[in-house]
Amino acid sequence: MKTRGFCAFCKSPKWYYAHKHLKWTHTFFSLLLALCFNYVATFEFGPSFLFIFGMNLIVAEMILQIRWRMSVICQKCGFDPVLYVKDQNLACDKVKQKLDERKKDEIKNVFFPLKLPFRKS
Ligand SMILES: [Zn+2]
Repeated sequence: MKTRGFCAFCKSPKWYYAHKHLKWTHTFFSLLLALCFNYVATFEFGPSFLFIFGMNLIVAEMILQIRWRMSVICQKCGFDPVLYVKDQNLACDKVKQKLDERKKDEIKNVFFPLKLPFRKS
């Protein structure tokens, strides 16, 4: 489920995924899919569906992690809060790179300007 929020750097509104781990519905559908795959492959219900169920859980968790990670990054300024916690300089370089790319695009500068933070002197 997507949640509405704001970018921590440019304060522009954005949508992101709040859940980054499996929920019970994902587990249930992984189990159902494993039973279906096992029945189609062997035409009987056997214990081999547990292996398929485990693989389904691993793949579903990986997909959810990647989806959450991609949704956290701001599409307008490129700010990545997870990277900022780990390495502030690298996060700053990525934001600068994204803003330099954005400066070259005149349409975005005119019609969708960013309200970037500034330091008071
Ligand atoms: Zn942003």
